[in-house]
Amino acid sequence: MKAQIKLGRIFGIEIGLHYSWLIIAVLIALSLSQYFAESHPDWTGSVIWTMAIVTALLFFLSIVIHELSHAAIARRNNLPVKSITLFALGGVALIEKEAENAKTEFWMGIIGPITSAAIGFLCLGISYLLGWIPMSEPNTPLMAMLVWLGYINFGLAIFNMLPGFPMDGGRVFRGIVWAITGNRTKATIIASLTGQFLALSFIILGLIMFFSRSGFSGLWIAFIGWFLLNAAKATYAQEALAQQLAGLQVSDVMNQDCPVVDSRINLETFVEDNLLRTGQRCFVVVENEQPVGLLTSHEVKNIERKLWGFKMVTDAMKPLESIQVVSPETPVIEALEIIGREDVNQLPVVSNGQLKGIISRDRILNYLLTKQELKL
Ligand SMILES: [Zn+2]
Repeated sequence: MKAQIKLGRIFGIEIGLHYSWLIIAVLIALSLSQYFAESHPDWTGSVIWTMAIVTALLFFLSIVIHELSHAAIARRNNLPVKSITLFALGGVALIEKEAENAKTEFWMGIIGPITSAAIGFLCLGISYLLGWIPMSEPNTPLMAMLVWLGYINFGLAIFNMLPGFPMDGGRVFRGIVWAITGNRTKATIIASLTGQFLALSFIILGLIMFFSRSGFSGLWIAFIGWFLLNAAKATYAQEALAQQLAGLQVSDVMNQDCPVVDSRINLETFVEDNLLRTGQRCFVVVENEQPVGLLTSHEVKNIERKLWGFKMVTDAMKPLESIQVVSPETPVIEALEIIGREDVNQLPVVSNGQLKGIISRDRILNYLLTKQELKL
């Protein structure tokens, strides 16, 4: 999930919005205004609209706080957190590494529901102090807002405790199974299978509701189920991949004799003589025999066709300093994570300042295909 609208940083963590969030924000504000108008016909239109918008914004703030709580636990355990993105179905904190032990996994998961429940408790507590009688219809706009936020945050806490991926409860469940069995892979597979089961139940429940007259909300539940199913399946696939690549180092699959090209060659010549003729896709650019950058057709594409004759290879290449590098000892699964995160096809492998090779998606894929073919 990539953020398309960047809002800024909190504690160095990028906070962003995915476009799908905008649709849901409008839907929530609309349904809130309808709810406030029905429960309090005496309130004016402008009061109702201001409340609906402010309540919707506070709701998303509470989701950001929920995600920040995950981030805080991750950071305390030395797991870097890059960003928090809000999208149609909530928020995701991008934690760049997996927990190293069951205890961290457990706390990283459970802190989310605890935070949501605490926010819910706070909101209902304040409205109680302001004179709200529990279970009754709140009678001032401020109280109505707080009570709605209170209930919704309690709802979030409960929903997130469902024991399957990608819910927080899935992490908690995984942490517990991991602690009992001592086997991370087994724990992940169990948690993602429960996640798939729960997601399927959502889809079935939603469809039953849809056909028994509840219309839109049934479809909505089925849609949430479909999303959860995909996320749970992805976790399963990822774990299966991790198992296939277990114990494998970058040096085992990297390409050691990468094609080299001189930095002073003209770009046009490079395309004709190197890129097209050799069939190689990634070239190491060297200057006085020292590697200075990488060049693929992707970088060439960024330069206008008619300028190729006037540009040199150095003008188009990606300088080595700007690329994340890995060492020959890096686990392949970690290199693959970096490739995915940086959205590139290959990474230079560097040891003691020397370029040792290139690790690419293709090399890893070929390794997996060969392994599968030989049923290893
Ligand atoms: Zn959470």
